[in-house]
Amino acid sequence: MLEVKNLTVSFHTYAGEVQALRGVDFAVEDGEVLAIVGESGCGKSVTVQSVMQLHKPDTVDYKAGEILYNGENLLRYTEKQMQQIRGKEISMIFQDVMTSLNPTMTVGKQITEILKIHGQKDAGKNKEQAIELLRAVGIANPEKRFDQYPHEFSGGMRQRVMIAIASACNPKILIADEPTTALDVTVQAQILDLMKELQKERNMSIIFITHNLGVVANIAQKVAVMYGGIVVESGTVYDIFYRSKHPYTWGLMNSTFRLEQDKKEELHPIEGTPPDLLNPPKGCPFASRCEYAMKICTEQLPEQTELGTFHKCRCHLLDPDCPVDIDEVRKHEQKFS
Ligand code: SF4
Repeated sequence: MLEVKNLTVSFHTYAGEVQALRGVDFAVEDGEVLAIVGESGCGKSVTVQSVMQLHKPDTVDYKAGEILYNGENLLRYTEKQMQQIRGKEISMIFQDVMTSLNPTMTVGKQITEILKIHGQKDAGKNKEQAIELLRAVGIANPEKRFDQYPHEFSGGMRQRVMIAIASACNPKILIADEPTTALDVTVQAQILDLMKELQKERNMSIIFITHNLGVVANIAQKVAVMYGGIVVESGTVYDIFYRSKHPYTWGLMNSTFRLEQDKKEELHPIEGTPPDLLNPPKGCPFASRCEYAMKICTEQLPEQTELGTFHKCRCHLLDPDCPVDIDEVRKHEQKFS
């Protein structure tokens, strides 16, 4: 349904050119949930904002690549054509709900507005549909809530309203950019359940951005791990959790608490900091933090190796001529299997 190929995006800043995405590839099938994971600044949000083309035109430079939606390259669409896609075909919800909702408009008006923009002109029917949508996302007493303003809702309820707005026109794809990060754990679980329900009912595809691997295991079927503006590893949830091959993916796993883990066992954060994308390294972006880094890693960006139908990884360790002791590497793999 959506295929992103070799997406290369830069931003012009006062400090210079920020090479935010350097050849991102991923695909989302019909009714599938893809999680994009990685540390802050790795390019997750820039990727999905590029899909929706939300960047300011005078600062962004789409250097290469394609964003194919049902076979059509969205990068060739005009702003007018994109307005027909946003909200109707592809919708997005954000982490910061308070700034995404209009504080001066009732939530009912904000839902009916999107229905109107996409061609439903009957005000009475739109109101009925908006109330039904509020009910569907778990807002109690939706008839009364329809006339209330965002500040009269709690954080979790506001996120439910956002989901109602985003799903109003039955989009084929819902993009969720860290939608549960600002919420407490119980509300997070409720919002995840709601999204799973909607996805099943409507056979929607979801692209879920998160840095929380617990959330990934809960909601996704496929995962793309991003680092330094590229997808370093991708595959099914099983591929990533149980047979990952990339040292950065191992680092993410080692820094996450697992249920079976002894409470006294320490978590191991990944030492160091992500690369500066104003001046990204020419080799593997993870080289300065990787305990297996070799000379070639600082000189050459690893090619993508296909390890299975969906499992792909970019690491020189997978080169058949790699001099690193493969048994040492396998120890890590066994740790998660
Ligand atoms: Fe580490 Fe080299 Fe693999 Fe990059 S390519 S993750 S530096 S071993």
